[in-house]
Amino acid sequence: MTNKEFTEKHPNALFNLKKSLFTKECIKINTCPHASLFSACPTARLSINRKRLDFGPKLTTMPVMKLYPLKFKPLFKERIWGGQQLKAIFGKDLPADEKIGESWELADLPDDKSEIVNGPLAGQTIDHVITTYGEAITGKTDYQPPFPLLIKILDARDDLSVQVHPDAELCQKTGKGDPKTECWYIIDAAEGAAIYKGLAPGTTKEQFAAAIENGTCADLLQRVPVKVGECHFLPSGTCHAIGAGLLIAEIQQPSDTTYRVFDWNRVDPKTGQGRQLHVEDALESIHFDPSGDNLSVESHGRLVDAPEFKVDKGHQSAGCETLLEGEMKVLVILSGSGEIIAEGIESTPFVKGDCLLIPAVFTGAMQFADDCEYLVTTI
Ligand SMILES: [Zn+2]
Repeated sequence: MTNKEFTEKHPNALFNLKKSLFTKECIKINTCPHASLFSACPTARLSINRKRLDFGPKLTTMPVMKLYPLKFKPLFKERIWGGQQLKAIFGKDLPADEKIGESWELADLPDDKSEIVNGPLAGQTIDHVITTYGEAITGKTDYQPPFPLLIKILDARDDLSVQVHPDAELCQKTGKGDPKTECWYIIDAAEGAAIYKGLAPGTTKEQFAAAIENGTCADLLQRVPVKVGECHFLPSGTCHAIGAGLLIAEIQQPSDTTYRVFDWNRVDPKTGQGRQLHVEDALESIHFDPSGDNLSVESHGRLVDAPEFKVDKGHQSAGCETLLEGEMKVLVILSGSGEIIAEGIESTPFVKGDCLLIPAVFTGAMQFADDCEYLVTTI
């Protein structure tokens, strides 16, 4: 079969693409001669003449330079419930003695725009490079800013506030705020750690309003114990909170519209006061009948399949390689390390905790130096 047919049939195949792939006439690709066993048997070999390979979109659509995997400077956010786990687990360069709750790995919000740190585009912000390169990065002809994904890693040493984000319909109706559908991938969990995901079945707006009033609303939330490797989907309108003892990769729509319902009667030591609540807006935003909502939880393969974004989990062994091509991807490396190689482009190393934006026109290979787990988000 031709390479095009081959890659169509095996979109997730483990290609053993050596660096020489791009410089030699003839390459070898690790595969199984029995096509259906391909992913299970990466040791058999198949030679394909390079001339027959179709490496996806040619790079001629790029105005100036070859686009490459982009890495960003994390934006660290001090939070009352945060800690120093992002340094302990991912080696992130946190300011000492600050409770860092969030590392914004990729953001395009009015006051927070991620800055590229690698390659020729270093120093430029995400919005600027997308304005310049457009479809070559996003793969979309109808792209409208802001960048449609907000990627964070959260370190919850204490419970986060109980909150909700309005859905698109309500934002449209009120002309206020932006929707935020999100998912939480559990990277690390203390014994017994839990999240709060939606309300107990049958809870009415009146009951919940009364419970907020008398400080017992947490009793009406569904407390869900979580395990490492689970991905919980939370569409806009779901009342939620992250519990203490969790390290989470959060993938969400780009919005900072959060209506806080309850903050566990906490006092912010910096202000001596409780944080602001937004009870009326929250009551308006919560889906009191969530029967039509997809509150999925997945641990393997496609973790999220929503109109807003898709998330897949990848797991590769040391020495394996996989192709990157065909559409824009955002990678979050959960464990392991390796590098991304491509013709005529300096290799891009990655380690756990990294977030990389792979432009749609990019064609290359991910090489894994260690066993590696990672999330792939597409739009
Ligand atoms: Zn949220």
